[in-house]
Amino acid sequence: MNKKRIFKQRQEKRKKIAAERIKELFKQADEVFDESPELSNKYVNLARKMAMKYRVKIPTNLKRRFCKHCYSYFKQGKTCRVRLNKGKMVYYCLNCKKYTRIPYKK
Ligand SMILES: [Zn+2]
Repeated sequence: MNKKRIFKQRQEKRKKIAAERIKELFKQADEVFDESPELSNKYVNLARKMAMKYRVKIPTNLKRRFCKHCYSYFKQGKTCRVRLNKGKMVYYCLNCKKYTRIPYKK
């Protein structure tokens, strides 16, 4: 096995760990929301930083969990309103008053 291959394998492993950690952070964000929405936002930010650092994509199902403008955690009916429009999920952020549109798949 050459060095390049070992390096790539290590990188893949790190990415996998980062992806798991991101999922965990969103789970925690949901759990702490009732007690502290600020802490939820902090977890979202940590997850984003993690994704950037390890260059991993945030899965679509997690992307719709926060505002792409102000990155605040989305809790339906509390920090955002959701509606469907022309095959898209439209999230209205109550924090920054902006819309986030995510294509909707059946
Ligand atoms: Zn927002």
